[in-house]
Amino acid sequence: MSILKVARLGHPVLRQQSAPVPMEEIRSRETQQLIDDMVETMREYNGAGLAAPQVHVLKQICVIEVSGNPRYPEAPSIPLTVLVNPRVTPLTDEREDGWEGCLSVPDMRGMVPRLTAVRLEAYDREGQPIDLVAKEFFARVIQHETDHLNGVVYLDRMNDFSTLTHLAEWNKYWLGVSEQDD
Ligand SMILES: [Zn+2]
Repeated sequence: MSILKVARLGHPVLRQQSAPVPMEEIRSRETQQLIDDMVETMREYNGAGLAAPQVHVLKQICVIEVSGNPRYPEAPSIPLTVLVNPRVTPLTDEREDGWEGCLSVPDMRGMVPRLTAVRLEAYDREGQPIDLVAKEFFARVIQHETDHLNGVVYLDRMNDFSTLTHLAEWNKYWLGVSEQDD
């Protein structure tokens, strides 16, 4: 496995549309290697998730995992989840504000309104279908990661840039949490 280079805001790859992975390619060596490398990269940089365009690959794949993450100390745990060709459908009009960061927008946090409940349809890394209802924080992470597959970053979803803050200032003025790591 290897740690991949993460594209930063301004790299055109973050603004492009990702292509679906053909069913017969999900279990291929190449796709499995990419997924393994994405998981390792996400863990190395303490991401809550990572989408393939963030590692310069325009394929509809994202990985999500939250467990004792120093970047999100208050966040509930999410077991490792691999999503291939995800489709997200709103289950409500209700949106809730929450803090987000992004490995492609290093050292920043901003308040982002997100739908509080979505239906997620996707395939896992074996090609088995996933169909579930996600709420609150899990729904937020899913929306953030799947946005990347459409060339959208969290800044595009913000209503009010007055909450956009560097991490050190976020710790100092907004949360008082130290030891953040991006
Ligand atoms: Zn992101």
